[in-house]
Amino acid sequence: MTISTGTPAATGRTIDIDNPATGKVIGTVDNMTAEEVAQLVDRARAAQPRWEAIGFADRARLVRALRKWFVAERARIVDIVVAENGKTREDALLAELFYLADSMGFWAKNARKYLADESPRTHSPLVFGKKVVVRHRPLGVVGVIAPWNYPLTLSIGDALPALMAGNTVVIKPSEIAPLAVEFVVRGAREVGFPDDVLLVATGAGETGAALVDTADMIQFTGSTRTGRRIAATCGERLIPCSVELGGKDPMIVLADANIDRAVNVAVEWSMRNAGQICMAIERVYVEEPVYDEFVAKVADKVAALRQGEPADYGSVDVGAITFPPQLEIIEAHVADALTKGARAVVGGHRRPGVGRFFEPTVLVDVDHTMDCMTQETFGPLLPIMKVRNDEEAVRLANDSPYGLGSSIFTRDIAKANRLARRLDAGNTWINDAIMSYLAQEAPFAGARESGLGGRHGKQGIRKYCDTHTILTTRFALTHEPTMFPNSVKRSRFFERLMVLMFGR
Ligand code: NAD
Repeated sequence: MTISTGTPAATGRTIDIDNPATGKVIGTVDNMTAEEVAQLVDRARAAQPRWEAIGFADRARLVRALRKWFVAERARIVDIVVAENGKTREDALLAELFYLADSMGFWAKNARKYLADESPRTHSPLVFGKKVVVRHRPLGVVGVIAPWNYPLTLSIGDALPALMAGNTVVIKPSEIAPLAVEFVVRGAREVGFPDDVLLVATGAGETGAALVDTADMIQFTGSTRTGRRIAATCGERLIPCSVELGGKDPMIVLADANIDRAVNVAVEWSMRNAGQICMAIERVYVEEPVYDEFVAKVADKVAALRQGEPADYGSVDVGAITFPPQLEIIEAHVADALTKGARAVVGGHRRPGVGRFFEPTVLVDVDHTMDCMTQETFGPLLPIMKVRNDEEAVRLANDSPYGLGSSIFTRDIAKANRLARRLDAGNTWINDAIMSYLAQEAPFAGARESGLGGRHGKQGIRKYCDTHTILTTRFALTHEPTMFPNSVKRSRFFERLMVLMFGR
């Protein structure tokens, strides 16, 4: 079956934004041209030196003011996110509002420390007595290109460290969900962010491509297919990029695990946000002795999930499918699996009627000939496979082009740690899932085709800087032994020195 990509509405001068749960148009944004993007980048570039010059303390003060505004406006922001995204209020509150408010404080507090000048102790006798300082200076204009599944966390969240480092930022939000970003950027202006420090370029893929052509660094989150193209263009332009891409996260459940906890985590992180999370649990490998119990308990819990148009808090557990073509991908993966011998123990269908919904679905009798075990589904689908032992589980977990997250459930923590080190993933969670994302001190990055770069931690802000090494010679001979003219005697001396130091 052919999977269509892109939105039909995103072809003209404007883009209509619909509510995935109702199908109603809730807003319209400009589909910006390459010239308009270039103008925005020019404005951001002109504003950057002044923004850098105001220093960490003033930038932190503004980010904290934005946080105060953000928390005060939480009800309106949740409304916008829910309306443009179709996710539940709980998903919006925790993964967008709570995370971002925390992140604003984190970067306001830690940016200066992570980017402080460093004076490495040098080891070479040839630089003895010279002072070496490494500074981290902003790159200029950072282009942040975002996906639709967490429209704020993956746009404003990445803009924060870039801004705190002294860059100005142009965000290209997803054409599917740009309204919350626009609202928060207006909030930044209200609390006193200077002109042109944080700008928004709304539009479809071509608008993003224009940003890649003009910004000084690209922070991208989205599909592996688009990430590869962006990294190639950045390579041509010789500008840095960080690309956070797709995933197909495996979960391993060993026979000695706390099964009830494993079941709860599997259901939570496969169905939360209707499975539209890069690090959702997308496949489970369960050891034979506990397989039947695990499947039965997961099926009961998934069958009990309430799905529908998100109304107030507590009204539903699973919301809509945000991106229209995603429904076709989910349907195709289920159909492919069923054709090849899998069984749906819960769900399995697109819901008829208003809005874009796919039933929370559990598949069994699956294997790696099926797309649902090897390709990113990005929907409320949990395929569960029986394995003989931990060796088979690790082999199958690693049988994927992706390497974002992974989890292992067992009471034997030493064994879990040994197995964790054999998983080809940027993140491994033992008796848990996803939670390291909240430990913003630690890097969150993908291995293999899940990305290059990463966010959070020291690396998560240094990537928005280049290094500038300054060596100072204050007290020195006017004529050093390594200076011209070349001579046999001095060459012999350095030769002997090298043999003495390194030749044994
Ligand atoms: P996508 O690649 O289709 O689009 C992402 C963004 O790129 C959008 O803003 C889009 O307009 C823009 N874009 C499209 N073509 C472009 C081009 N040629 N040049 C520049 N920009 C372009 O991805 P999506 O469907 O919005 O998001 C879903 C994907 O994102 C999934 O694969 C998911 O796993 C991934 N994701 C990864 C992470 C992570 O941290 N690793 C987090 C969330 C989502």
